[in-house]
Amino acid sequence: MDIKLSFFGAAQNVTGSRYLVETSGARLLIDCGLYQERELLARNWDPFPVPPESIDTVLLTHAHLDHCGLLPKLVREGFSGPIHCTGPTAEIATIVLLDSAHLQEEDAEHKLRRHKREKRTGPHPVKPLYTTEDAEAVTPLLSTTGYEQPVQLGKGLEAVYHDAGHILGAASISLTIKGKGAGRTILFSGDVGRRDKPILQDPAVIEHADYVVIESTYGDRLHQDRKEIDDALADIVNSTRKAGGNIVIPTFSVERAQELLYHLSKLLREDRIPKMPVFVDSPMAIRVTDVFEHHPEYFDEEMMALIRRRESPFDFPGLRETRSVEQSKKISRHRGPAIIMAGSGMCTGGRIKYHLIDNIAREESTILFVGYQAFGTLGRHIVEGAENVRILGRRHDVRARVAQIHGFSAHADRDELLVWLSGLKKDPRHVFVTHGEPEAAESFSRFVHEKTGWPTSVPSYEDSVTLQ
Ligand SMILES: [Zn+2]
Repeated sequence: MDIKLSFFGAAQNVTGSRYLVETSGARLLIDCGLYQERELLARNWDPFPVPPESIDTVLLTHAHLDHCGLLPKLVREGFSGPIHCTGPTAEIATIVLLDSAHLQEEDAEHKLRRHKREKRTGPHPVKPLYTTEDAEAVTPLLSTTGYEQPVQLGKGLEAVYHDAGHILGAASISLTIKGKGAGRTILFSGDVGRRDKPILQDPAVIEHADYVVIESTYGDRLHQDRKEIDDALADIVNSTRKAGGNIVIPTFSVERAQELLYHLSKLLREDRIPKMPVFVDSPMAIRVTDVFEHHPEYFDEEMMALIRRRESPFDFPGLRETRSVEQSKKISRHRGPAIIMAGSGMCTGGRIKYHLIDNIAREESTILFVGYQAFGTLGRHIVEGAENVRILGRRHDVRARVAQIHGFSAHADRDELLVWLSGLKKDPRHVFVTHGEPEAAESFSRFVHEKTGWPTSVPSYEDSVTLQ
């Protein structure tokens, strides 16, 4: 039996996850992610490596854009098969893809206006990568499944989704191709989460795979202890409140916002911070939080205990969700210290910019970063200590305190990834290390080989291998 596995994304980089599996009778795509690294953005516009209508099925690991963000383009260009994913992934992906389409449309509009102003035309016609209509066309194809329930894909193929512990509904996927003999199982890790993360279960232990495709985002690093998050957060909230300022937190809408609410509600319950207004000024974060609230079956034991005691982290005294622009504007008129969470997480757009304008020159306020800030973003400039930054066309002095908490990562570190692999009871035939910068991927590939003796490699973009 010959199986062809090709790497069309997240190969020696961290975004654009996309793997193609071809058997004698079927073609499957595992994830269909958007490229987000600036130097790789052009790949989003490339034609798909095979005609979209020739793909039978998509298996989707989770709802982050770098795993699902090219689905609207795939569907527009002819894919019409099922996209298998968990219930929460279907709901969050729908929110995330509509938001992404909206941003694509806005980008195209800005570019058109700029070209008009500068009286020039670009080399290509300006159009959005995909539209709201394209994103809406994805939803009817989403077919939901739960963890550990085999999904029959036809043509001798079966998929099983395992809890990846990364974001709500995220999965690692075992794909079994049955042949005349024993059949072969390829395990795709998706993004693997950390152990003891709040709200979510730990990554599932997976015992069997002939081949493994594993992420390596932090394959060359070890994370800080999570326990330090509560101490750091309490300290920042209390000192800023004492100074009379606001705590402004640029927040990613998916998972990070909900995790922050979890920590803040815990500190409140334990009386480690005083009762004060906590604004969630992000319609998208609020919609994603709603998805969490109606999927308690995906929570861990600790979170379930909180819900049973009516101590949900998504509903506590002082919590205020602002959906409309009018409500959002009122926050700047609010007197007295408050915690303000808003998107985007790297300050590249969204309502956070208005809160930064209100607070960045105030010595008594704190800008608190709880996520990765990519090179070239406003968030990165502030974190790196810029004295003066440009926001919405005007310069502002940075006088507020700038703080950062590192322990929030949604990705397993080097040792946690090895623990995940060591669930396997029998040696796999090969481990492919993907979804990492070249140094991280190479380093993790060597590390796994040294620790286990298994053959490992780091595939390049567009590499294909034949599996036997
Ligand atoms: Zn992810």
